[in-house]
Formats: sequence, C-alpha cells, structure tokens
Amino acid sequence: MKCPKCVSSMETVMHGVHRCGTCRGLLLDPLARERLLETDGAESLDAGTDSVGKRWDVVDAVVCPRCNVRMVRLVDARGPDVHFEQCADCGSSFLDAGELRRLRRARSGGFWRRLLG
Ligand SMILES: [Zn+2]
Ligand SMILES: [Zn+2]
Repeated sequence: MKCPKCVSSMETVMHGVHRCGTCRGLLLDPLARERLLETDGAESLDAGTDSVGKRWDVVDAVVCPRCNVRMVRLVDARGPDVHFEQCADCGSSFLDAGELRRLRRARSGGFWRRLLG
C-alpha cells in the first residue's frame, strides 16, 4: 500500500495498522484506531518526530489508498489540537507522525488540561 501523503510504501506493523517508511504517518483501520487509543505503549508505533509530522500535517489533499476517495480532515474530541484525515467510505484514518502520541497523551489523565488550568 502507498502512503496517501508522500506516496512512499507503507509497512504493516500489526493487523489494521500501516506505517509509512518516509513520513512515518500511520494508516489505521477504525477498530485498530480505537484499540491503539486504549492500549498503553501504543505510542511506540508512532516512530516519527513531531517536526516531521508537522511538515506533513499541512498536506490535506489526502486520498484513501484503499477506496481512492478524498479523506476528510477531522479533529478528535480527545485531543482537539490533533488534525487527522479519515475516509468516509472505509473509516480508515491517517495520523501524521506524533499524532498518535498526542492523542494518547490527551487521553491519559488530562495532563495538558491540568497544566493549562
Ligand atoms: Zn508517507
Ligand atoms: Zn477508505
């Protein structure tokens, strides 16, 4: 499968989870996404740096590699500063490098909410 952002090839890191070898974005099927958000240590799959992720986050013309339709940009209520792309057909989502980390962090204990009062 080709990365929808940078068109490099993606490797399967576990069932329903593909990671790009270049921009380190993650393509997650809907079940895998929910599972990863609940799993301690899942952020270790998020192998890219925040700066790489930020560079690719601005690319929002993203086409689902499974369905070949334009993915929609969404915000997760659990981490409102995280923008990711989701396919309306198959429900797969694409997270740039660092975004799974940030969603996991937002989820576990509201660290930032406490910090920001
Ligand atoms: Zn990529
Ligand atoms: Zn799709």
